[in-house]
Amino acid sequence: MNRTRKIVTTAVSLFIVLALALVGVAEHFGWVDVFFLFGNPATRKVDIESVGEVHFINCGQGDSVLIVSGGESVLIDAGPKKHGNDVVNYLRKNRIRKLDYIVFSHFDEDHIGGSLKILENFPVGNIFLKTPEEEPTTDIYIKMKTEIKNKKIEKTETNAGDTFKCGEFDFEFIGPTKKFADTNNNSLVVRAKIGEISYLLTGDMEADGEKSLLEGNVDIRASVLKVGHHGSKDSSKADFLQKVNAEYAVISSEKGNSYGHPNNKTIRRLVDALGSTDKIYRTDINGNIVFYNDGKNIEVVLEKERK
Ligand SMILES: [Zn+2]
Repeated sequence: MNRTRKIVTTAVSLFIVLALALVGVAEHFGWVDVFFLFGNPATRKVDIESVGEVHFINCGQGDSVLIVSGGESVLIDAGPKKHGNDVVNYLRKNRIRKLDYIVFSHFDEDHIGGSLKILENFPVGNIFLKTPEEEPTTDIYIKMKTEIKNKKIEKTETNAGDTFKCGEFDFEFIGPTKKFADTNNNSLVVRAKIGEISYLLTGDMEADGEKSLLEGNVDIRASVLKVGHHGSKDSSKADFLQKVNAEYAVISSEKGNSYGHPNNKTIRRLVDALGSTDKIYRTDINGNIVFYNDGKNIEVVLEKERK
């Protein structure tokens, strides 16, 4: 055997041994742990003693929020179908093995499109949703409904006033407080509280939904606001933002999307309400955005800093 051939043979053998070892580790501990070996944003060191994490997942023009605390997890919306695999991979990288709860804010494609991939890849404890009187006839909704039924996943018809717990987080559905003709304003609105920190997750709620919460004198104060309807011009009105009194705002949208989200006027209203642009984060600019908190303080980890 000449020298070159010997080197090649050794290299190939070494590669096979390493590959087999990796498969062995994966078989034993699960692929999730193999992913873990190559970096895990969830365990990234933060200065505070975090008891709860809220991840705004970059899923293109859509919404998907992962909340983790005390070994339990909630996924709020699953992003569009196009990014279903991205959401699955993000959950895997964050060592999510099961979802204790899923909340579907409403049934538009940019919120449930990724649901089939999620249901295919993770066991799910309970799904919170609000079925409208006129059920959607879209392909994705029908497939999702069939999948939930086939997998015998518990489904809870949810209304304003309903609550649940996930780890240290207390969740309350605070909207919709009345029936609206459009799907966006009928979004389930959730407030998640942990100590002195609260997150307001508004789905695609627009001005009419905001107005009804204000009129109902609902407690909408929040440290972090997920801006309604991807920052559209008809959401996040000044009086609503004033009452929320958020320290941080997050907009989930895709760069160059055809809807023009987020709208410039909405951004201006947010800047007025928050006092500066520094604490307005956007998935189209910052990528994945994670809030860690200890019940009193917040620490934010951005995948990409603003240029
Ligand atoms: Zn949407």
